[in-house]
Amino acid sequence: MKRLVVLGAGESGAGAAVLAKVKGFEVFVSDMSKIKDKYKELLNKYQIPWEEGQHTENLILNADEVVKSPGIPNNAPMIEKLKAQGTSIISEIEFAGRYTNAKMICITGSNGKTTTTSLIYHIFKSAGYNVGLAGNIGQSLALQVAEKNYDYYIIELSSFQLDNMYDFRANIAILMNITPDHLDRYDYKMQNYVDAKFRITQNQTEEDAFVFWNDDPIIQKELSKYGLKARLYPFAEIKENGVIAYTDNNKVYFDAPIAFNMEQEELALTGKHNLYNSLAAGITANLSGIRKEIIREGLMTFKGVEHRLEKVANVKGASYINDSKATNVNSCFYALQSMKTPTILILGGKDKGNDYNEIKELVKEKCVGLVYMGLHNEKLHQFFDPIGLPVRDVQSMKDAVQACYEMAKPGDTVLLSPCCASFDLFKSYEDRGEQFKACVKAL
Ligand code: ADP
Repeated sequence: MKRLVVLGAGESGAGAAVLAKVKGFEVFVSDMSKIKDKYKELLNKYQIPWEEGQHTENLILNADEVVKSPGIPNNAPMIEKLKAQGTSIISEIEFAGRYTNAKMICITGSNGKTTTTSLIYHIFKSAGYNVGLAGNIGQSLALQVAEKNYDYYIIELSSFQLDNMYDFRANIAILMNITPDHLDRYDYKMQNYVDAKFRITQNQTEEDAFVFWNDDPIIQKELSKYGLKARLYPFAEIKENGVIAYTDNNKVYFDAPIAFNMEQEELALTGKHNLYNSLAAGITANLSGIRKEIIREGLMTFKGVEHRLEKVANVKGASYINDSKATNVNSCFYALQSMKTPTILILGGKDKGNDYNEIKELVKEKCVGLVYMGLHNEKLHQFFDPIGLPVRDVQSMKDAVQACYEMAKPGDTVLLSPCCASFDLFKSYEDRGEQFKACVKAL
């Protein structure tokens, strides 16, 4: 019997363990932190042995193969030991992919993954397809492969998941964009991060499709390096060289495989970034044989995703928007770009090597005040103070919202779009967004 060790018992690790057990492996799960109760219950239900708060070497190094959770860095000591002895280390998605013949629709990019993934899922569901939603969202792919029998999976893939994927094949791969993110996990080398993102195309054949944003300078520059075999489906805002989805005269066009169009203002999601997300989703649904009426309807009825440019409330004439998911500079760029009224921006948190030059001009153009919210705001002061806007320095959400309340005039927008991870003051970006909403509602 082969021994599979799973490192990290979150959603993906617990799911991988269950699938391995169902497929007849001897399974062991080890997590350096505390395992959540719901995953302990799941592991116990399947009689899978586990440990928490430690990695017991002799129970791990004897693995035939290891599934590593995406949160564990490649240079973690146990991973280094496994690598040194030549043990195969794969991601949960790689493992799950071995046990299903379902069509795999995979979405990656620095920004827009969750929105695009959810939108595609929404359209597939509306079309009555037998489809699962997996990856960074909802239930792990592995658990669904173990317990369900879907024809399609719509899978959100982070670069960390892609890192440990080798034989997995995406029938449709979607690359939204590539901008610097998570560089702390890639030796601060952009090329390493780019290579990780392009892994989404590895193993694709002529029968598969690669959907990507044609105007992304990095994608354009790198595209020819990876020997892509899949059919290419580029999209862009404006019709240009070979793009098959674009806008023209306030209409959105999809040219292939079935040509159709719709009014741009009918799209449920607004803002330029969301146009890209809608184009990618429309192409994917079209490629999957969904009727154009249903695609149109799906693009019109999608409700959006929490913590992404989510309207919270109007207080004394100022509107408050929760974009807590903007954990890097580029997503804040798009959020600012879509602002239509003078904006007070709350930003800050755990900086992942940010270069704020990208939003400097937009901050000058759109913002009337800045609230720095983090344990270490020095870099923000240094970069933004010279612009000359009123600034406030806070260390809690309550104080941030209070500062905005004091600064905001009727007609202004207060935007939480932090450019940073949340882990200095909050449990997660969801926690940060929830706290924002609660504080706004308490005003
Ligand atoms: P991800 O899952 O890749 O983090 P989300 O769909 O959760 O992306 O969106 C995160 C934030 O990124 C949004 O709040 C928005 O500000 C921004 N965003 C969404 N889509 C795009 C896009 N296509 N390009 C750039 N920024 C985007």
